[in-house]
Amino acid sequence: MTAAPLDGKQIAAAIRVQVRERAESLRSRGIEPTLAVMAATDDDAAAWYSRTLSKAAEKVSISARILSLDPGASEAGLVAEVARIVIDSNVHGIILQTPLPSRVRPDVLFSAIPPEKDVDGTNPLSAGRVMMGLRAFAPATATAVIELLKSYDVPLGGAHAVVVGRSMVVGKPVAHLLLAENATVTICHSRTRDLPRITQQADVVVVAIGRPRFLGREYVKPGATVIDVGTTPDRDGKLVGDVDADAVQTIAGGLTPVPGGVGPVTTAVLLRNTISAAIRSSQGKLTDSHASSWPSS
Ligand code: NAP
Repeated sequence: MTAAPLDGKQIAAAIRVQVRERAESLRSRGIEPTLAVMAATDDDAAAWYSRTLSKAAEKVSISARILSLDPGASEAGLVAEVARIVIDSNVHGIILQTPLPSRVRPDVLFSAIPPEKDVDGTNPLSAGRVMMGLRAFAPATATAVIELLKSYDVPLGGAHAVVVGRSMVVGKPVAHLLLAENATVTICHSRTRDLPRITQQADVVVVAIGRPRFLGREYVKPGATVIDVGTTPDRDGKLVGDVDADAVQTIAGGLTPVPGGVGPVTTAVLLRNTISAAIRSSQGKLTDSHASSWPSS
């Protein structure tokens, strides 16, 4: 058996076409969809990501503003800088990158981004709303996992999905979104005993642990779908997933490549969320009953 490759690039391209059409339609009505990408770090990777996201936005007719916050500022100072962007009605989506300075509390900073502009679902309020099944943006990577599974018609209702990793960025939100799709969900983490015994029962395995080539053939039930969220750069800067792809593709039914799997879909979802936020803001004040531009989760 050779696992079918679940190609994220193709799905991302289809999302981008839709996003561009909607962005141009907004522009024709005088609204310039705008994404602010903020970072409070001198980290090179963050600067690279800001530039990459900004270029991706501009290709689909979304304006991007890269904002470097002072990494030496106090927590209150950073909150004030975020608040200054939040009140700008011309900015529809806001992303605050990590890492944040070690002396600031991430939840305090993320809470400064209101859910309607929180296109990467980092505000604890957004997380709570996603958990309750209310409209809000879930973290883009978690949404990308579901997008991939649905695009390839992987049955989720009643399926056993095992999520390995319990971060707020990936593992926990993916688990909630899978639950919303009526999967039976098991969450595993570094303290889980006998992990292979659990993952072997899964129809769908989502791995997000940041351990290169960790998940081997012995973790996978024949024919299962495996989503590899991991992206760890190797010595040459090449991204390596959490799955030992050579071994797992001889047993899985479907497998996402790294790179070219979850990553491109994540970026496309962020752009789609920005458009949803722009449409929402142009519709006036939102109530849950008329929030047609929000994601359904
Ligand atoms: P994280 O915050 O470091 O969380 C890692 C999780 O993995 C933790 O819950 C940890 O368990 C668990 N874990 C670690 N070692 C384990 C083991 N041996 N067995 C079982 N569970 C283990 O990482 P993250 O932010 O979720 O990111 C995970 C990976 O996804 C990274 O490679 C990251 O670069 C990648 N990522 C990719 C995208 C994308 O768009 N493609 C986006 C975000 C992240 P404990 O909670 O017990 O410590």
